[in-house]
Amino acid sequence: MKTKSVKIGHVIIGGGFPVAVQTMWKKPLSKNTDEILSEIKRLKNMGCDILRFSVPDSTSSEYLGKLIPDSVIPLVADIHFDYKLALECIGFGIQKVRINPGNIGALWKVEEIVRAASDKNVPIRVGVNGGSLPRDLQNYGNRADAMVLAAERELNVFEKLGFKDVVFSLKSSDIESTVSANSTFSEKYQYPLHLGVTEAGPLIPGIVKSTIALTKLLAQGIGDTIRVSLSDEPVNEVIAGNEILKASGLKNDGVSIISCPRCGRASFDTHKFVKKLEPLLYSLKKNISIAIMGCIVNGPGEARDADLGITGSGDNVVIFRKGKIIHRIKASEAVKIFTEELEKID
Ligand code: SF4
Repeated sequence: MKTKSVKIGHVIIGGGFPVAVQTMWKKPLSKNTDEILSEIKRLKNMGCDILRFSVPDSTSSEYLGKLIPDSVIPLVADIHFDYKLALECIGFGIQKVRINPGNIGALWKVEEIVRAASDKNVPIRVGVNGGSLPRDLQNYGNRADAMVLAAERELNVFEKLGFKDVVFSLKSSDIESTVSANSTFSEKYQYPLHLGVTEAGPLIPGIVKSTIALTKLLAQGIGDTIRVSLSDEPVNEVIAGNEILKASGLKNDGVSIISCPRCGRASFDTHKFVKKLEPLLYSLKKNISIAIMGCIVNGPGEARDADLGITGSGDNVVIFRKGKIIHRIKASEAVKIFTEELEKID
């Protein structure tokens, strides 16, 4: 579905632009500006396009303000109750604000935020959450319909104020409500959608739930930015988000990893090798496939289409390109030589 485009710093979402991947900072903001900035760089290298911070108080907004000028990706301030914090962050030059207007309170406070955002061309995400709906909608028959209604109420406020730079999210912790609410909303409106399953859970269950919900929506062309919410590190949310986009055919500028699960035949520790190479592989912007196989029996043969592969062969390992062996080396040299070969591929 073609949505209107919204500019968040240098990243444009909606309007047919690539689906952006985002995550959230999981610790309190602090005065360790350099440390946080270098972590932001690492997240960007791993494929993060936008990063959100919780802003519970003025000290946090000041710390966030110090990050904004030097951050390599656009930052979002997540405001829950105090509209003044949104105004402070907008004053510091934040690239986007996320609010749940139901939590902000009186309409005039939302209006204040919208006026300030409008003056500085700062977009706002309205985050509707199935678990924190307005009181009168909490026992509404159908959760998805209640979420859409909640979003429409907010939309009316923004439209009355003539503010169009709005992104919506309709998140629930259950898959069906998330899919249904976003499908209904996108049939009616052209505002960009931020997709996610809220409180999706720990690493594996969270990725499974998010993948099911997000792929259903992305397959219909719904969704302009995604976040995989996990009880885990932000970097894993970023990796999961990018893998969902790659598996959905919406992203092809990253390495596709084929790796065997390992069995009793393995003479090469694929698990250890994958772990070691993962940070490099996820950060490479090369549309290639690599294969990491445990034994020669199914090594180059099964992975003959891979641009680069490695497998065990007796006491040695072999590195192959498109099924052809190019190195026969000791396991201790594997990381170094494999990395050198990776760098040679355009
Ligand atoms: S490639 Fe070899 S080690 Fe890996 S699962 Fe297949 S048979 Fe087992």
